[in-house]
Amino acid sequence: MDGIHDLGGMHGFGAVVAPGGEAPYHERWEARVFALLQLVDLEGLGARPGDRATIEEMDPVDYLAASYYERWLWSAEQRLLRKGTIAAGEVEQMMERLAAGGPEPPAHRDPDQAARVVQWLGPEEIVPMQPATRTRFVPGQGVRVRRMHPAGHTRCPRYGGGALGVVPSRVERARREDGIGRARRWGMGPADLFLLSRDEAERRVQVAGLLAASFTPHCAALDPARLARGLARVVERLGVPIHEGTPVTRVRPGRADTPHGPVRAEVVVRATEGYGTTLPGLRRSLLPLYSLMVATEPLPEEAWKEIGWAGGETMAAGGHLFTYAQRTRDGRIAFGGRGAPYHFGSRIRPAYDRDEGVHRRLEATLAELFPPAAGAGITHRWGGPLGIPRDWTASVGLDRDTGLAWAGGYVGDGVGTANLAGRTLADLICGRDTDRTRLPWVQHRSRPWEPEPLRWLGVNAVRVLAGSADAAERRTGRPARLRERVLERFLGG
Ligand SMILES: Cc1cc2nc3c(=O)[nH]c(=O)nc-3n(C[C@H](O)[C@H](O)[C@H](O)COP(=O)(O)OP(=O)(O)OC[C@H]3O[C@@H](n4cnc5c(N)ncnc54)[C@H](O)[C@@H]3O)c2cc1C
Repeated sequence: MDGIHDLGGMHGFGAVVAPGGEAPYHERWEARVFALLQLVDLEGLGARPGDRATIEEMDPVDYLAASYYERWLWSAEQRLLRKGTIAAGEVEQMMERLAAGGPEPPAHRDPDQAARVVQWLGPEEIVPMQPATRTRFVPGQGVRVRRMHPAGHTRCPRYGGGALGVVPSRVERARREDGIGRARRWGMGPADLFLLSRDEAERRVQVAGLLAASFTPHCAALDPARLARGLARVVERLGVPIHEGTPVTRVRPGRADTPHGPVRAEVVVRATEGYGTTLPGLRRSLLPLYSLMVATEPLPEEAWKEIGWAGGETMAAGGHLFTYAQRTRDGRIAFGGRGAPYHFGSRIRPAYDRDEGVHRRLEATLAELFPPAAGAGITHRWGGPLGIPRDWTASVGLDRDTGLAWAGGYVGDGVGTANLAGRTLADLICGRDTDRTRLPWVQHRSRPWEPEPLRWLGVNAVRVLAGSADAAERRTGRPARLRERVLERFLGG
């Protein structure tokens, strides 16, 4: 559960460290609240669940307006009320009496009880915490977080909101169920990937025409530019020089050639994804297929109230042309999809990152799926080539004889996969036999794409076919089987 008290991973709250923030109490009543909380627990005066889980129930607006100990006081009061230790209205009556100058309630002094509290707290709560002498992580370093998605209060940060696969039609539902069945055979359990009913899905996000959705907790949305810059900082801090803006013109055993001369190395790793097809000898190794995106301006709060999407899930809508979306941390919808033309000879040009027709189609689909965002301005339009192997299977490997290593062919899922590939390459190059080096994609070789003009004719025909299969399915509500079989032959390799 991502309640308001599970703030880890939420953005936009400013610096955590505030001047004077390290003092345990800023006013005397705060220490009393702390003492009250201990007594509620020690003497069993409050109902379950505990304090933090009860704080989760606070209205988010009240939560954000309250101070730290005001929240604790609120939760102690709720728990006392629920247990029947105090009666409804009793606190308000006391406040009114005191405000009217009524007598102070009698003081309750019980040294034995105080000693029991001190003993119960234990020394670690009494002795002030010392600053850490050694830090496990440095700023900017990547950390791995696990998303368990249990119900109830967990204090788990919300870095990973999972991934939703929205199901807009019965045809797509059958396809998702097939996909879940395949995932089960690969060892994904019922908690790893499952189908949400329409109601369950709509509680997460309101998507027009949604019938159901698949959900996996194993996904996190991130800002790719920050990731790339952060990784570069970490690598440089480890002493690795990074050279940018120098093209590699050829990769050969023991060297990468540049216009300024060769860079020599025992092992040369090619991790150039779709762009690598511009290197000699590699034109047919991958297909640079463009994926394009748009982003709205930040949506107003009212729009987000209608759409929901507070859990940070990434989202994909199936279909043969596949669209994907996420809510950005500054409140935009970033929305992307395939369908851009393939350019003869696997050409890559900066101009291809934009395609008016595809961007317009994306904007229309975005407005269709999220009606409250229909009038929003589109502030960004961009794209880039994905690397598609002939059998749509990513791979990573090292040829020991030549010292040439490679990783790629991620078909648009390369952010997490490139990380696994990097770790696997490190194992391979250092000669370590690990679980990673035994994965089926290691040393896998895809066959080359067809030569031109066959490649151009085939890819663009398939692109048109995929669009028409989606349209036919929308029209008839039935799978476009014939077109699907042709697509499978082509896509499945
Ligand atoms: C619009 C779009 C949306 C995407 N969305 C997602 C998503 O939601 N989730 C996901 O997982 N993936 C997504 N991807 C795919 C993801 O971006 C890639 O799979 C991932 O970046 C691959 O990482 P990489 O490090 O292998 O290659 P890249 O990030 O492509 O890096 C390759 C680098 O090699 C450099 N290079 C190439 N050739 C040469 C040369 N000859 N000389 C010198 N340098 C060279 C390039 O300049 C580049 O910096 C998306 C891609 C696009 C285009």
